[in-house]
Amino acid sequence: MAQIDPLPPLRDVIATHGLSARKSLGQNFLLDLNLTARIARVAGDLSGSDILEVGPGPGGLTRGLLAEGARRVLAVEKDPRCLPALAEIAAAYPGQLEVIEGDALDVDALAHLTPPIRIAANLPYNVGTELLVRWLTPKEWPPVWSSMTLMFQKEVAERIVAAPGSKAYGRLALLAQWRADAHIALHLPPEAFTPPPKVSSAVVHLTALPKARFEADAAVLNRVVAAGFNQRRKMLRSALKGIAPDIEDRLIAAGLKPTDRAEQVPLEGFCALARAVAAA
Ligand code: SAM
Repeated sequence: MAQIDPLPPLRDVIATHGLSARKSLGQNFLLDLNLTARIARVAGDLSGSDILEVGPGPGGLTRGLLAEGARRVLAVEKDPRCLPALAEIAAAYPGQLEVIEGDALDVDALAHLTPPIRIAANLPYNVGTELLVRWLTPKEWPPVWSSMTLMFQKEVAERIVAAPGSKAYGRLALLAQWRADAHIALHLPPEAFTPPPKVSSAVVHLTALPKARFEADAAVLNRVVAAGFNQRRKMLRSALKGIAPDIEDRLIAAGLKPTDRAEQVPLEGFCALARAVAAA
């Protein structure tokens, strides 16, 4: 396999810097640089983009992103043990890699970047869904990012791209698909990581749409979707009882049947319901 850069192999980097993987930090490292370069290519043409990477660890994906021509990478890493390894990458790509030591949940890293911005990460599983939800619910749309290329546990990836009627369909699918295109770009077996996690993983690629597919107020949509799926086996008329006293009429006004269950209702139906609930 071709070398993607002149830096040492990741196994050596990990040995040199004593980066034994810590479970508490969700550390499952990608050591195959050809694979990380492939993930970077899923993110699209990086040459004109700033990239936010969360959790670079020893830098496998970081190196993939830089080798694939990223204009600039800003990486947020919680584990200070990784910083010397990342400093070696920064030295090999002068002016292109900046590392912030910190918790990605506390750092407003997107504010440091210049559009177009892409997010790419092999996410720590314990914070992955929370970060995704934050990135999908900025104060204004379109968001500052134009695409996100993110590794998740396969089961979470399936929830993001799920279609109505499937077991995986729920809040995450609706949130992601309302204002973005989302698809699974790559499946990875546990052995792709060191140490291997218990479950398979998948890379999801999301592209921000300029505007929502169907009109709805974000807060109202969130409320009806949350209520619907909190009791996903109940009929909408009882699951949504707390939303409005005349919820049956509003369901009908939205073209839905009060006896439908949330998992059968497509995005368009939830948006119509959010509009009917918001109407005076
Ligand atoms: N990107 C590397 C790779 O692909 O090999 C490492 C991925 S590993 C699954 C997750 C990384 O996220 C680890 O380096 C871990 O230290 C870091 N991490 C965990 N929680 C974090 C947090 N809250 N904020 C920033 N980084 C975090």
